[in-house]
Amino acid sequence: VSSAGRTAATNGHYVNGNASPSDASTERIQIIDDEKTFSPALTKQIGKWGLQNAGFDYNIVAVFGSQSTGKSTLLNRLFGTNFDVMDESRRQQTTKGIWMCKAKDANLLVMDVEGTDGRERGEDQDFERKSALFSLASSEVLIVNLWEHQVGLYQGANMGLLKTVFEVNLGLFGKKTPDGRNQRTLLLFVIRDHIGTTPLANLQATLAADMQKIWESLSKPPELKDKQLSDYFDMSFAALPHKILAADKFESEAKELSRRFYDKSRPDYVFSPQYHKRIPADGVAFYMEGIWEQVQNNKDLDLPTQQELLAQFRCDEISAAAIAEFNEQAKSQKRPIESGKVVEGLGKMMRAWRQGALDRYDRDASRYHQGVYKRKRADLVSVIDSTLSPLFLGQLKNLHKACLASYKQEMVEGMRSEGYNFADVVASARARLEKRFIEGAQEALVEGTDWSYEEELELLREEARSIADQCRKDETKKMVNVIERNFKKQISEPVELYLNKPSPDMWDKVLKVFRETLDKAETAYLSKAKSFDCTDEENATALATLRKRAWLALRAKIEEQTADAVFLGKLRAFFEERFRYDENGVPRVWRPDDDIDGAFRKAKEQTLELIPLYWRIKPMDPSLEFALPSETSDSLTNTEDFDFPSTLIVFTETKALDLENRFRRDADAFYVEAKRSTVSSVAQ
Ligand code: GDP
Ligand code: MG
Repeated sequence: VSSAGRTAATNGHYVNGNASPSDASTERIQIIDDEKTFSPALTKQIGKWGLQNAGFDYNIVAVFGSQSTGKSTLLNRLFGTNFDVMDESRRQQTTKGIWMCKAKDANLLVMDVEGTDGRERGEDQDFERKSALFSLASSEVLIVNLWEHQVGLYQGANMGLLKTVFEVNLGLFGKKTPDGRNQRTLLLFVIRDHIGTTPLANLQATLAADMQKIWESLSKPPELKDKQLSDYFDMSFAALPHKILAADKFESEAKELSRRFYDKSRPDYVFSPQYHKRIPADGVAFYMEGIWEQVQNNKDLDLPTQQELLAQFRCDEISAAAIAEFNEQAKSQKRPIESGKVVEGLGKMMRAWRQGALDRYDRDASRYHQGVYKRKRADLVSVIDSTLSPLFLGQLKNLHKACLASYKQEMVEGMRSEGYNFADVVASARARLEKRFIEGAQEALVEGTDWSYEEELELLREEARSIADQCRKDETKKMVNVIERNFKKQISEPVELYLNKPSPDMWDKVLKVFRETLDKAETAYLSKAKSFDCTDEENATALATLRKRAWLALRAKIEEQTADAVFLGKLRAFFEERFRYDENGVPRVWRPDDDIDGAFRKAKEQTLELIPLYWRIKPMDPSLEFALPSETSDSLTNTEDFDFPSTLIVFTETKALDLENRFRRDADAFYVEAKRSTVSSVAQ
């Protein structure tokens, strides 16, 4: 076996191989060096061996035995490894440490312990004990290597070593594992230089009896005093012929022994699942480092705690990797959401990212300590959800905006069509709005979260309601305007007619037509308003507005008809009719003996009587009287001062006097003209 290609690695540890440089599978690593420090390169080396994702699908075997008993030679034979073998010619070995190789063609890690034999040399047994502890805490199978002639030497060095192993084991595995199993290990005794005179069965019996004796001689803690050797160990035995004296047989039997490590179908296959230490391959390096640290500091090795520490470390690492990938995915939709876009299929994406991260985590982390695994999973879920939540909320907000915009659009379009029914337009726009929003919001939900869109939906409903209200108000206003215009048209002619024919019941007629027209307008409003779903209050307001506007329209018409010139014209026409025409409507030709003065006075008086008739709007029939509530100005409701009683007054008293005077002057002119006409007719 060559020791070519030793290359220095970090911390004075060695990683080397003697196959082609590109083949990492034969690389070996010194996991614990002469200075008793643990190699930081193990994690990487396990990756290079291709075991990173092996989970529990791997095994570990270690060797134990006196110095120079052919341990390294054996391992190399069994596993195709390249551990250093003592140089035959020099016969000395000074290194201490633990080396690791990957067995050929198997997910099997092999540990070789190198060291001086403290007991034989009278040195301290420190390293021996520590390496035993370390090997037991991590291996499933411990090969106990010894010469045939050492068998039965109960007081011999090997027995001391085994006692160490058992003691250490009690300290380590006295407690049950977290899942309640007893931690078991297989001790595979390999008897070297077996001559054959003593059959293996006899050697086996001797060794078993010795083991039992050693076990009984241990001082056990009280809680473990009834524990049997078989509670913790299985024992198996093999013998190998002399390597030099029976070289061929040695090789063939070594090969046969090797099969027990490779062939799962054999009944004597060594790796029973009960021996597995249940450390996932990706955590082996961290776990071993922790164990070594504890061993080094001579602390009580508490495996459950070690497993928990390992779980924390690895679960954090696995979680961080899952989060990194998840963040990359989630980032892709952050900007679109922030820019106000409704991202199509966001929920599907979010569910996939979340599930992907959890699947990745579960795949790798579920192999670790269940309590830690679950706790870290909850942490992971909350990190994921706190990243997704703003996306969900953003999507809701954007959805809200988009839905509201198309809702408005639909309302506008709906009201554009001829003879639309407002309530129907609102109801169908509203139904579509909710459907669209709920569908979108539901798509964005992620199972396992406590997200909800109820609040946003309620907000949306409120806004939709207020938009509909505003629309209705606008529409109602428009409707009132139309009705008002019609109203004006309808009253114009009759009012003009009545005001041109002054009579004591003139106002009765005016108010009657006003009343009838107003009633029709109110009916028109109410029948339309039904489709608007207006509230009673809104109806009351609209009707009050309508009434007031109707009244003001009437007032405007009256104003127009009683403007100075128009009114004086009316008076003049009335007067003329009586003064210049006779009862039959024939124009009068005044003669000197005619009673011009009498006729003039009579016509004038009759005409002057009209003025009080127009003064105020006052029907003879009191039931026709109209009234409106007065209003004081209010900047909030946009009302101006409106004093109803004053609107009943057509002329003030001064105005009436003024009009009377002006009329008298007109009448006087007619009188003078009449007089003059008689003079001229006399003169003819
Ligand atoms: P280790 O110190 O236990 O790892 O022993 P090595 O594998 O380095 O071997 C020590 C010496 O024993 C070397 O010179 C080997 O050639 C020799 N050796 C290895 N295997 C056997 C064996 O089965 N029988 C005998 N007699 N010598 C062996
Ligand atoms: Mg060796």
